[in-house]
Amino acid sequence: MSVYDAIVVGAGVEGSSAAYHLSKNGKRTLLLEQFPLPHSRGSSHGQSRITRKSYGKDEFYTDMMMEAFPLWEQLEKESGTSLYRQTSLLLVSGPSDRNVEETQHALQTRNIPHQIIPSGRELKEKFPNLEYPDNYRFLLDYSGGLLYADRAVKAFQNEFKRNGGILKDGEPMLNIYPGDIITVRTTEGEYRTHNLVLCPGPWAPKVLEKIGLNPPLKPIKVIACYWKEKTPGEHGSSRFPTIIHCGGDIYALPAYEYPGLFKLALHSGPESNPDHRDAVDDGWILEKVQKYVATHLPSLEPVPSVKENCMYTLTPDSNPIIDTHPKWKNIAFGVGFSGDGFKLAPVVGKLLCELVTGRTPSYSLEPFRLGRFSKSRL
Ligand SMILES: Cc1cc2nc3c(=O)[nH]c(=O)nc-3n(C[C@H](O)[C@H](O)[C@H](O)COP(=O)(O)OP(=O)(O)OC[C@H]3O[C@@H](n4cnc5c(N)ncnc54)[C@H](O)[C@@H]3O)c2cc1C
Repeated sequence: MSVYDAIVVGAGVEGSSAAYHLSKNGKRTLLLEQFPLPHSRGSSHGQSRITRKSYGKDEFYTDMMMEAFPLWEQLEKESGTSLYRQTSLLLVSGPSDRNVEETQHALQTRNIPHQIIPSGRELKEKFPNLEYPDNYRFLLDYSGGLLYADRAVKAFQNEFKRNGGILKDGEPMLNIYPGDIITVRTTEGEYRTHNLVLCPGPWAPKVLEKIGLNPPLKPIKVIACYWKEKTPGEHGSSRFPTIIHCGGDIYALPAYEYPGLFKLALHSGPESNPDHRDAVDDGWILEKVQKYVATHLPSLEPVPSVKENCMYTLTPDSNPIIDTHPKWKNIAFGVGFSGDGFKLAPVVGKLLCELVTGRTPSYSLEPFRLGRFSKSRL
């Protein structure tokens, strides 16, 4: 049996990006996916995600996004596919929330173009459909926009295959036998590899357990809701920004996926096993988002026209775990993206590739280490 340079488990956006970087670096790589592709059971499906350079106190994300933007552009060029639409991102802060000030610091110190809108009244002059109290503050990050999610995942996979990578879907990984040469058992047989990268999304607890790891990961079910505009054409991407309101746990994207339907959802949900995602009680989510729409976006119909289910995998500090196994350095993983990992995928894939090929990681891994959750540090 021949030995691969690398096997990647999970063909969501993170695993597909890692596989793409490995193949680009000349590594003979196998990408394994449990479901026939494309599928809608994990975290990467759907047509759009928010991208931005603005992050609050965790400024290292702004640095990573400054590299992610050109890496996305490179993937656009290589694949001949458009993956990004600029809309600007509107960050909303209530009176007791310092997110706008913290983000402004990160953007100002890096000369990233942005605008502060100091009151709800001034916001309404710019975006007449948005109703926020006068004591709210806002930041407009001009880099913000949409990533075309399904297309982006497909572009990583296509370029991976074009570089000689092998993608096997509909083939779940069942077990891992670590060592200098790792054996990976699937429903179809066994493969051997020098390096293994695990990006199993919400199935991470089940997969990491196979190599003796049990980090504090919590898969949750989230619901993307789509709201019909009362006046057609008012909430499209040429007129409307993407929105993040951290204090309200809300994000929103202009009408794009379904013409005339604005996407607005809660950045939270009930704990859920991804194998039984839709069996949990989620009525309270709808109550919360309906209240938000009625208060802040009365230009939308009060009940969502379409609801789509998806999964997040949360960590206690909302930062992902990107690291190698404490004992087997040839096994790396990228898990726990906490509902915020799509835009970062080109950099995450690059980091995972650096980790298993023994190169110095391009960014400090301190915020992402597995060890930050060890008992002595909690
Ligand atoms: C509704 C929603 C909105 C979001 N909005 C944003 C946003 O605006 N901006 C942003 O940056 N991020 C956003 N995110 C988060 C982002 O989409 C996720 O962080 C990202 O998609 C995670 O990708 P992943 O590859 O880790 O996981 P997944 O996409 O779940 O991929 C994991 C893959 O591993 C496979 N797998 C698991 N176990 C096995 C096994 N044993 N064998 C083989 N294959 C296996 C799974 O089938 C799956 O395909 C959003 C997420 C959701 C759900």
